[in-house]
Amino acid sequence: MPENTLPENTPSEGAVPAGDSAVNPAGEGSADNTPPRLLGPAQVRSLAERLGVTPTKKLGQNFVHDPNTVRKIIRLADVKAGQNVLEIGPGLGSLTLGLTEVGARVTAVEIDDRLASWLPETVAHHQPDAQLSVVHSDALAVESLPTPPELLVANLPYNVSVPILMHLLESFPSITGGLVMVQQEVGERIQAAPNSKIYGAPSAKAAWYGRWTIAGSVSRKIFWPVPGVDSVLVGFQKYEQPLGSEEERQLTFELINAAFANRRKMLRQSLQTAVSPEHSSTERVTELLKRTNIAETARAENLNVTEYLAIARAILEH
Ligand code: SAM
Repeated sequence: MPENTLPENTPSEGAVPAGDSAVNPAGEGSADNTPPRLLGPAQVRSLAERLGVTPTKKLGQNFVHDPNTVRKIIRLADVKAGQNVLEIGPGLGSLTLGLTEVGARVTAVEIDDRLASWLPETVAHHQPDAQLSVVHSDALAVESLPTPPELLVANLPYNVSVPILMHLLESFPSITGGLVMVQQEVGERIQAAPNSKIYGAPSAKAAWYGRWTIAGSVSRKIFWPVPGVDSVLVGFQKYEQPLGSEEERQLTFELINAAFANRRKMLRQSLQTAVSPEHSSTERVTELLKRTNIAETARAENLNVTEYLAIARAILEH
């Protein structure tokens, strides 16, 4: 637990509430000594020092220290005042403060003890009027939240970004869209279309939920420590109606997993165990592919998510 003292200027009576234009737009504080509303390099370093945080690769801890980038993310995510926003991995609070600055109600899920316990202090210090709930947990294990989230806005930990995304989309249907920062290769893979080398299970599963686009790239220099990979911002808009039922989604995802586990094989081979776990049967898969108008010679990367869904429906029919 951190000491209960603030890293820099303690909030004073003259603290500037969110939305006050007297604050330097770069987030570097104002002449009357009120704390800056966003974290710059000096605040990020001194907070980390105060908390004894040495960023770890294991938890993908690269903290954003550039207020302009934070405001760009908030603009691209189209965050509105009063919206319930879910942030995963708030870290020292760089993006959290960008969200609360525009009046969002933020629920932040953080796995790291010190970061989770200190975040309310940081946010209250920089923006006394901010609305924030902190959930100290592994995002992969979160099954309920204090408020149903509408938007997901996050700088995701690199090594688990796809599993976290999939878990949240599956567990919180109230999410209608969002913007996430991920490693460039992961971002390109998520929004890839069929018939390309980078199209994979994450692309097909992401397409179940909605439309995904790369909204911009982010310089390595805006992180501390500087990561060894490039990052992109990926935006998504969920479909208003799901493509199918939960039972259909589960089977569709099983088929996608089986197909991409052997992406070089033709589907009539790779789908065998997913289609009939007890006894593999090429005839059964061939019959299903015929029934759904999918070429017998097709491979995992040739099918879009609705074609995987068509196979799932054919299996569920009989
Ligand atoms: N949002 C902050 C920023 O932009 O400066 C920090 C982003 S940093 C890339 C990723 C954050 O996710 C870290 O704070 C890390 O502790 C946290 N994290 C890593 N794995 C997590 C998990 N499984 N669940 C929740 N938080 C996680």
